[in-house]
Amino acid sequence: MAYTIALIGRPNVGKSTLFNRLVGRRIALVDDQPGVTRDLREGDGRIGDLNFRVIDTAGLEIAADQSLPGRMRKLTERAVEMADCCLFMTDARAGVTPADREVADILRRAGADVLLICNKAEGRVADATHEAWSLGIGEPIPVSAEHGEGIQEIYAALQPRI
Ligand code: GDP
Ligand code: MG
Repeated sequence: MAYTIALIGRPNVGKSTLFNRLVGRRIALVDDQPGVTRDLREGDGRIGDLNFRVIDTAGLEIAADQSLPGRMRKLTERAVEMADCCLFMTDARAGVTPADREVADILRRAGADVLLICNKAEGRVADATHEAWSLGIGEPIPVSAEHGEGIQEIYAALQPRI
C-alpha cells in the first residue's frame, strides 16, 4: 500500500489547490466559493523523488466563524483513518478560526501524525504563521499552494516519513 497523505482543513483553506499541485493534474475542483468539492478525491502525488497517495477532503460551505457541519467532520474523520500522515491546512490570511480549532481537536483525538500547513502565506511569512502555533500541533509550515512556495519544506517534513 502506498504511503497516504490526507489534506485536512475547513473549507476554502486551499486543500484542492494543493491537491492539484501535488497530483499535477486538475482533478480536484477549485472554486472561489468555499467548499465546492463535496467528497473525498484521491490521486497519485509526487514531490521530487517522493511518491504517495493523496486524499483531498471537501465539505459544505461554512462561514469562517461557524463550527464544522457534521458531514465535514465525518469526512475528515474518514480521511484521517485512511491516512498515514495528515497535512492540516489553515489559511494564513484568515488567521486561526473556531473551525480550525475543531479540526485540530479531531486530529488530536485520532492520534494522527500531523503536519501543520499555513497556506496563502505568499509574501508575508512571519506574521502569517505565528498565530498557528496556538493550535498546539507544532511548528507551522508556511506555503502558498497557488504560487508553489513552501513545497520544498513539505518535502523535507515528509521525506523521513515515507
Ligand atoms: P478548499 O476548499 O480547501 O479545497 O480550497 P480551494 O483549493 O478550493 O481554494 C479556495 C480559494 O483559495 C480559491 O479561491 C483558491 O484560488 C484560493 N487559494 C488557494 N491557495 C492559495 C494560495 O496559496 N494563496 C492565495 N492567495 N489563495 C489561494
Ligand atoms: Mg476543495
